[in-house]
Amino acid sequence: MTTTAEPGTGTPRERDEVARRADAFVEDLSEWLRIPSISADPGHHGDVARSAQWLAERLRAEGWPQVEIWDDTEALPAVFASWPAADSGAPTVLVYGHHDVQPADLEDGWSFEPFAPEVVGEELRGRGASDDKGHLAMVRLGLAAHLAATGSGAPAVHLKFLAEGEEESGSAHLGALLAAHREALACDAIVVTDTGMVGRDAPTVCTGMRGMVDTEVVFRGATVDLHSGQFGGAVPNPVTELARLVAALHDERGRVQIPGFYDDVRLPSDVERASWAALPFDEPEWLAVSAAGAQATAGEDGWSTYERLWARPTAEVNGLHGGYAGPGHKTIVPHGATLKLTFRLVADQDPATIAAAVRAFVEERTPAGISAEVTTSGPGVPPLICEVDSALVGSIREAMGQALGADVLPAREGGSGPEALLATELAAPLAFLGVMLPSDRIHAPDERAVLPLLLSGAEATAHLWRLLGERGV
Ligand SMILES: [Zn+2]
Repeated sequence: MTTTAEPGTGTPRERDEVARRADAFVEDLSEWLRIPSISADPGHHGDVARSAQWLAERLRAEGWPQVEIWDDTEALPAVFASWPAADSGAPTVLVYGHHDVQPADLEDGWSFEPFAPEVVGEELRGRGASDDKGHLAMVRLGLAAHLAATGSGAPAVHLKFLAEGEEESGSAHLGALLAAHREALACDAIVVTDTGMVGRDAPTVCTGMRGMVDTEVVFRGATVDLHSGQFGGAVPNPVTELARLVAALHDERGRVQIPGFYDDVRLPSDVERASWAALPFDEPEWLAVSAAGAQATAGEDGWSTYERLWARPTAEVNGLHGGYAGPGHKTIVPHGATLKLTFRLVADQDPATIAAAVRAFVEERTPAGISAEVTTSGPGVPPLICEVDSALVGSIREAMGQALGADVLPAREGGSGPEALLATELAAPLAFLGVMLPSDRIHAPDERAVLPLLLSGAEATAHLWRLLGERGV
């Protein structure tokens, strides 16, 4: 392996080059964060387009030979860029992230203006500072450092860059976008930069995310609410019956009772479990800070909190509504009740199979006198796990390790994204490189990024391009 240390200092050149650009990086990212590119809100779709424009201009200014805004499908504008390596035999790596953000309003409980970014101590505060503009800016900074450190006019790998414009609203048209541009996106490996680490003192690389499928169940009885004196006890109550269904979802050990639910679950390897067990986990702090004051851990018996989040599927009640909830009392038998459920899935569960199993479960438990309607909003998101022993994951661990000065252990994340779609559509191995922290409050009020971590992340990507150029993917 070549070394990039400055003679006599031991400091990697990439770190110096990142440090040299740190102030400009913060200024540039802050400018981008002022654009409220909220994909979920049609009122902000103009801002999503503005954000794409802003990014495309920056990429051109930074020297990317090919930069395009893709707005030729139903997808909100995405930005694509490509920079060939000097060595035509180098591998092609596609970096994926997204430039849209979650909605944010001061009234949601923010203690600062979400789209007026500011630096406080080590933090850059603002919506998108971490998820995911901060991470895309990190990749851009890393490339500048890589080019400067290697003294080359081109990266060590053929680099491609895709910033999606509607990840935060479910990537509904990403499949169409990938299909329309399959040739431009062809690559040997995908690096997703939209994930994080277990903690600042516990550098980890994400090696898997859960999938998801949602279901809405509506129970209906009479056509209108009935008088609970004249009819109560003589007709079924949809709220009671739906509550019974909810109660039947789990047994007392926390296992989901839907027949076939666990059939396709792939268990984590012993090596992974041992590695997760070695990660620090401060339960009181995790409850108080990350879980915003949750009062106890809970879940499926026999699994640690990390295992429950990363390797076990769940059935979660997101909402249960029915009947009267206003002031005082209203003596009725409600005419209907609604249940919203999401299921987080792990490899190798299939969203369609799980949705069908849920439907059968509801059908079985719908009592006489109640009609049930079960709907799913879309095809769901398949789970994805990386091969932990792969060369690609190994190189990412090494690159992050060099930048962070620590061993980087494998971990996973409990959330869901378009990873499986990317890996399947582009038929390439996929891995993650991100430095978000659980305390970054992504998707929540007061989002922030820890600047020294973004700078280390940039250095890590700079090392990664060099490593992959030397050894392939
Ligand atoms: Zn994200």
